Amino acid sequence: MTVTRLLLLGPPGSGKGTQAEILARRLGIPQIATGDMLRAAVDAGSAVGRQAQGFMDRGELVPDDVVIGVAEARLMEPDAVKGFILDGFPRTPAQAEALDAMLERLRVSLECCLALHVDEEELVARLLRRAQIEGRSDDNEQTIRTRMQVYREKTQPLVDYYDRRGVLREVEGDGDIGEVASRIEEALRR
Ligand code: AMP
Repeated sequence: MTVTRLLLLGPPGSGKGTQAEILARRLGIPQIATGDMLRAAVDAGSAVGRQAQGFMDRGELVPDDVVIGVAEARLMEPDAVKGFILDGFPRTPAQAEALDAMLERLRVSLECCLALHVDEEELVARLLRRAQIEGRSDDNEQTIRTRMQVYREKTQPLVDYYDRRGVLREVEGDGDIGEVASRIEEALRR
C-alpha cells in the first residue's frame, strides 16, 4: 500500500524540507511547508506575513492560530485530495489537535509520521553552513539556538503524540541526502 498522507517531523536543519521535496516528487503529491508559505507571505507583505515576521526573525514559533489558518487553507486546495506531505506543521500539540480536526472534517486520516533524528551539534553546524549559502535571516547562531530549544520544548512532544497513535516511523537523519532518502523509503515499506 502506498502511503499518501504523511508528515515529516524533525528539528531545524535535519533535512526534512529536502526529504519532503524528494518524497513529494516520488509520490506525486504536494509538499505543504508552512515555513515556505510564511516566508512567501512575509515577502508579499500580506497580513499573515506582517503577523509572522517578528517571530520568524527571532527563531520563535508563529502563533498557533495564524499557522493553523495557513495550513488549513492549503489542505483544502484541490491538489491535496490525492495526498500530502506536511513539512514543518504541526509544531505544537495545539497544532496537532487542530490538524486532527481538519482531517476529520475531510474524512481522511494521517497514515504516517516520519521522525528524523540528528545529533544537535551536527544540526547547528549544518544550519550555520546553510546560513552562509542561502542568507536566510533566521539562520544566525542566536536564532539557531533558539529554534533548537523551541523544537525540544514544543515540537519534540509530538513524537510521543504520533507514537501513541501508532503511526510513528523513526529514521536516522545522519549522512548524505541519498542515504537518508533510502532510509525513508525503507521506513515506508515497513
Ligand atoms: P521552517 O522553514 O520550517 O524552518 O520554518 C521557519 C520559521 O517559520 C520557524 O522558525 C517559525 O518561525 C515559522 N514556522 C513555520 N512553521 C511553523 C509552525 N507550524 N508553527 C509555528 N511557526 C512556524
